[in-house]
Amino acid sequence: MSLLALFTRRPAKTPTPQATPAPAPEPIDPRVIAQFSTVGGATVDLRTTTFTTLYDYRGAPYLAPESYQVDGFNWTCHGCHTVGRTRSHSDAGYRNKQTARDDANTHAGACRSMPRPTA
Ligand SMILES: [Zn+2]
Repeated sequence: MSLLALFTRRPAKTPTPQATPAPAPEPIDPRVIAQFSTVGGATVDLRTTTFTTLYDYRGAPYLAPESYQVDGFNWTCHGCHTVGRTRSHSDAGYRNKQTARDDANTHAGACRSMPRPTA
């Protein structure tokens, strides 16, 4: 083989791969205020919510005269489907945003769930 043959430009045997457009991201729930990634790659969404409580503004064990709605936070792991809530009493959410955020982040750091396969 001569050097000229070695350095002669040849036509490409395979067409240049064309960039495929990235799939459109799924719409995010407007109530989601933060997202965390689990060890396995699933997403933990922290969001605002409204829940019914039996406790007054101090929380458990201080009962309110009657149940009422309160604005708060909770989180959902889309890998293992755990829903975050306060551990100290039976409310379905957190009143404190930082506590909800810390618990969501702690769950994400320990959860090995992977994203659910799509059909
Ligand atoms: Zn999880």
